[in-house]
Amino acid sequence: MVTFGFLERIPHVIDGEVRPGRGDRVAPVFDPASGRQTAEVALATVGEVDEAVSAARTAQRRWREAPLGRRVQVLFSLRELVAGHEAELAEVITAQHGKTLGDARGEVLRGLECIEYACGLPELLKGEVSTQVAAGVDVRSLRQPVGVVACITPFNFPCMVPLWMLPNAIACGNAVVLKPSERDPGASVLLADLWRRAGLPDGVLNVVQGDGVAVDRLLEHRGVAAVSFVGSTPVARHVYERGTAHGKRVQALGGAKNHMVVLPDADVDVAADAAVSAGYGSAGERCMAVSVLVAVGGVADALVEAVRLRLDKLVIGPGTEPASEMGPLITREHRDRVASHVAAAAEAGAQVAVDGRAKALPGKGFFLGATLLDHVTPDMAAYRDEIFGPVLCVVRAERYDDAVDLVNANPYGNGVAIFTRDGGAARRFEQEVEVGMVGVNVPIPVPAAQFSFGGWGASLFGDAHMYGPEGVRFYTRGKVVTTRWPDPATSAVDLGFPRNR
Ligand code: NAD
Repeated sequence: MVTFGFLERIPHVIDGEVRPGRGDRVAPVFDPASGRQTAEVALATVGEVDEAVSAARTAQRRWREAPLGRRVQVLFSLRELVAGHEAELAEVITAQHGKTLGDARGEVLRGLECIEYACGLPELLKGEVSTQVAAGVDVRSLRQPVGVVACITPFNFPCMVPLWMLPNAIACGNAVVLKPSERDPGASVLLADLWRRAGLPDGVLNVVQGDGVAVDRLLEHRGVAAVSFVGSTPVARHVYERGTAHGKRVQALGGAKNHMVVLPDADVDVAADAAVSAGYGSAGERCMAVSVLVAVGGVADALVEAVRLRLDKLVIGPGTEPASEMGPLITREHRDRVASHVAAAAEAGAQVAVDGRAKALPGKGFFLGATLLDHVTPDMAAYRDEIFGPVLCVVRAERYDDAVDLVNANPYGNGVAIFTRDGGAARRFEQEVEVGMVGVNVPIPVPAAQFSFGGWGASLFGDAHMYGPEGVRFYTRGKVVTTRWPDPATSAVDLGFPRNR
């Protein structure tokens, strides 16, 4: 990191060089728990983005030639380095994002799983072969790197989401320009340093700090072949449309509105515990957070009461305090936007069962208490919009079919969960629900690293899910080679094979 006056300046990393940034545009970085600005981040100019792409293109030509064993060796070393720096990464995440240290460590561990997956890349990159499809003709398929990949990531997982992308992209022989969120960019610089120490050659991973200016340049740049994006739906749509219009392959994961359906036979305490951890963990700033609790039949009153009792005891405080179960939101403006959703829902007729705005909260940080809204209906903005904060909406459904219809009519389709003791009901739900990731008695069904992550509907633009096998496919292009080698017995030169067999 670079220090400018009293403020730390979070720099770019281009071609292995830490650069403070040439332009005069910077953005503030806050400690959300105290509300103080602790750093500033350089916002890249178009010229700086071009330099990063150019460095990546040059480095990629050599990197793609590096033997698979050598590439994977970097991944093995990186795995050890990230595991060894888990606490340091978590501290940086908590300092700029605000989530609890436990959540931050969890995020590093999920990222680590993606590195471990990429360590098996020699197996994953194996092609296929058909022999003797005609006389002397064989056909084989292989996968080759695409070139330079732009990775554009959101604020809510500043370590894990880059690690959804970088290990597979780099192990496949690509070079990367990472554009992290300008709101908590510190982890990206630490990650780049760990890659360097793992033996990654300069220029294979570049980090440009920035905002929409940098993103738009990456989307248009002829040197960028593919774009992996994670963020909100409006920006995901923009990235997909602009990137594909410029001839790139794009995977753009967007926002979410995840439902948790609770059937009348569910264990209410188990469901309430799950709803509280999945709804309010990380202050609801998770793309897989539960934001709608669909209470089916007679379970609603008991469920609302069980959640309410738990919220009374929820400890809200700085992420660095061991007792804290929920930290602040990312910015003051975002906190105020979330609070305004609560006011609007009350005005629209929702019942505020627990009002987080009334909670006594520590200091001047961007805190907001946990809110529970009951009797929410699908026409309310609190139901339609992605609030991305500690607000759980309860929608009451009469029957199972009403619950499924509600979920399937929602434009987002990221994650969904069902809580029941009935295996047959769960199985039917798995089949009928139109959502990309489904949990049965699991509130946050994030797929393990050997699967791929992605929603349906407005939660994903493009058709490639993130990480796992689909990640490897996305970062490689298929090639099919057809060869003909006539029988050596027919060669003009006598090679010693018996003729006229
Ligand atoms: P965001 O869309 O505001 O920002 C994401 C990235 O896009 C950042 O790097 C940002 O600098 C850039 N960006 C912002 N505005 C832009 C613009 N107008 N033009 C070009 N680039 C722009 O998202 P965020 O607030 O950082 O993150 C939260 C959102 O991300 C939520 O909607 C959440 O659901 C979503 N998210 C989705 C997933 C998923 O897997 N589907 C995972 C994590 C987060």
